[in-house]
Amino acid sequence: MGASVVNGLSVDVEDWFQVGAFEDVIERDQWAGLDDRVERNVHAILDLFDAANASATFFTLGWVAERHAPLLRAIADRGHEIASHGWDHERVFRMDRASFAADIERTRKTIEDCCGRRVIGYRAPSFSIDQRTPWAFDELAAQGYLYSSSVAPVAHDHYGWAEAPRFAFNPLPWHDLVELPVTTAEFRGRRLAAGGGGFFRVLPYAFSRWAIRQVNRTEGRPAIFYFHPWEIDPGQPRVSGAPIRSRLRHYTNLGKMAGKLRQLIEEFAWGRIDVIAHHEAARLAAERAVGLPARRA
Ligand SMILES: [Zn+2]
Repeated sequence: MGASVVNGLSVDVEDWFQVGAFEDVIERDQWAGLDDRVERNVHAILDLFDAANASATFFTLGWVAERHAPLLRAIADRGHEIASHGWDHERVFRMDRASFAADIERTRKTIEDCCGRRVIGYRAPSFSIDQRTPWAFDELAAQGYLYSSSVAPVAHDHYGWAEAPRFAFNPLPWHDLVELPVTTAEFRGRRLAAGGGGFFRVLPYAFSRWAIRQVNRTEGRPAIFYFHPWEIDPGQPRVSGAPIRSRLRHYTNLGKMAGKLRQLIEEFAWGRIDVIAHHEAARLAAERAVGLPARRA
């Protein structure tokens, strides 16, 4: 459709029982006994992407990678990037620096062993890198990660770092690591979450179209969009006992999601997040070279 900006498309690969909204109801030691639906859902997503000729990044839990090595190889063989979503969806601000370092190392090594490709990208569970975790970017860079897409620069009840930049930035003075925050749109001076997840599923498609056009055309920047395999799965088991608000958010419009995604993917241009990160890193370096020559000395 003549779209000139390539946007970042991503899937956070976790199963229906691993979401933050249900963490108080389903313990981690129950996971292994629950209905494993991630494999069939990811295959449906791969077919959807193939039909639209779109490539994407799959931020995958180490817990899932360890149990689904053939699935990871299928994702990689079909031209997509596999990156890290942490081991078992523990939020970064609930870990200390040492346990975070161990988590991202274990996840990276497990994924690399599964699919034989280097992992250079990380997405924090529930966008949980914020002002409480000043050591997180240092640990990512020290471990060889080149980019992160872990910040939601918006105020939200479960997550958010409202003061963070809305677009790609270098969080470290000593390293070129790039952070690509999930997309927000600005409306009358307010930031609105517009990068996917529950917002995309619950709000009318027209909102996402407006927001991504705004970011692409008015601001000239790529959007960073995400969703989850369980969001296209209306047949998933229902979790009782979770707060009504969590259940509403989780189960609304599951049956419409695949069609909505198809529309989104066809209407805009999409690519892997590592490719977007590479372009944004070059752009940031060029800006620094022009604006702040002293920093290069
Ligand atoms: Zn997640």
